[in-house]
Amino acid sequence: MSEFPVAQERKVVTAIPGPKSQALHKRRLEAVSNGAGAALPVYIEAAHGAILVDADGNQLIDLGSGIGVTTIGHTNAGVVAAVQEQVAKLTHTLFTLTPYENYVEVCEFLNKYTPGNFKKKSVLFNSGAEAVENAVKIARKATRKNGIVVFDHAYHGRTNLTYSMNFKAAPYGNGFGPTAGSIQHVPMSYPFRDPAGMTGEEAARRAITYIEKRVGLEDLACVVIEPIQGEAGFIVPAPGFLRTLSEWTRANGVVLIADEVQSGVARTGEWFASHHEEGFEPDLFTIAKGIAGGMPISAVTGRAEIMDASHPGGLGGTFGGNPVAAAAAVAVLKQIEAGGVIERAREIETILSKRLNAMKDKYPVIGDVRGRGAMMAIEFIEPGTHNPNQAAVDKVVKHSHSNGVLVLNAGTYYNVIRFLPPLAITDALLHDALDVIEAGIAAL
Ligand SMILES: *Cc1c(COP(=O)(O)O)cnc(C)c1O
Repeated sequence: MSEFPVAQERKVVTAIPGPKSQALHKRRLEAVSNGAGAALPVYIEAAHGAILVDADGNQLIDLGSGIGVTTIGHTNAGVVAAVQEQVAKLTHTLFTLTPYENYVEVCEFLNKYTPGNFKKKSVLFNSGAEAVENAVKIARKATRKNGIVVFDHAYHGRTNLTYSMNFKAAPYGNGFGPTAGSIQHVPMSYPFRDPAGMTGEEAARRAITYIEKRVGLEDLACVVIEPIQGEAGFIVPAPGFLRTLSEWTRANGVVLIADEVQSGVARTGEWFASHHEEGFEPDLFTIAKGIAGGMPISAVTGRAEIMDASHPGGLGGTFGGNPVAAAAAVAVLKQIEAGGVIERAREIETILSKRLNAMKDKYPVIGDVRGRGAMMAIEFIEPGTHNPNQAAVDKVVKHSHSNGVLVLNAGTYYNVIRFLPPLAITDALLHDALDVIEAGIAAL
């Protein structure tokens, strides 16, 4: 039995992409800028739970959630009802002109459920990049300093400031004009690739040495870190790394910003990934992707005195915290609060980690299994080495797509497969998808 209008099962009825998708893709190539990539040109008509239905009637299992966005599940009943009710009542006023309640409600939720036992405030935007960019503005205004420290392998967005903060200049920044200044990259804790036995504290000290020696404290406003790196391939820093970093920022009056755009909102089996390490106390959080079941909304949440350092009118934007998107966010946040959602992410971790570790034992092309909750990944290597193996990932991804399973690659070396299923996925569907992926690995 399913609460959704399509059965939660995989169904491949044509080649993927099928003829209708191919025809649509021809139109797209004429009409849409090449700058927007096309990882899998299968045109989706509907999506329910964890199933994507394409134009040719194929049903794909979604292991990507549009990159961690439809965490609550496609067409979640609570979200659909909230959006339908809101869209018929009020679609826009501009919050900073004439406000409305659900914007405030989203902020109250985020102030309550982000880590940190101190008075918090929030402000809403549309995208993850906008949240990151505004968090930096807020930190600069509060400290009256400019410097930004970010980490190797990090991803923060595609606006001028945020692409300058990304580790990969290619493809995000190349040719798009001068990068923003006052940004320094420092080494991340990457347990699979760090010297064997390096502790989290040692990795933090390595980063801190870079900060102190290369950047200095004089003009340093903030340190921005993804507590689990997303595009990097779900790099989970060694235990102690985040806490040590946070002790250092606190001792030195530097604003610590946790970019939880991908890892936040129940994804990792906690409200936020920052909850997993005791003593890690970010001052500000950036939140987006999974917060509103697919509707565009983002937030910066954090210490009230830092958030309030900005003058009225300095933060905002026409669409930021739009009432329909805010209604969807409230619907998602209420369900998480009511219980069961975070628990489901943990159950998915149990299934994924058991299956993926069994594959790692069997196939020497898998070098590492990592992640938390419904945010797990496998890193592919040339057997017996640590050399990245992108070719293997490309083949497994292609095999999975042809067989109706949507998986995403990731990683600085594109040698990681990441799993971000909607939490609405059934155990049976998850196992079916993993069977397909395993068959692809076995065929290498
Ligand atoms: C996706 C992402 C962003 C950018 O979000 P957009 O909504 O695409 O602008 C920023 N930070 C992290 C960690 C992300 O995963």
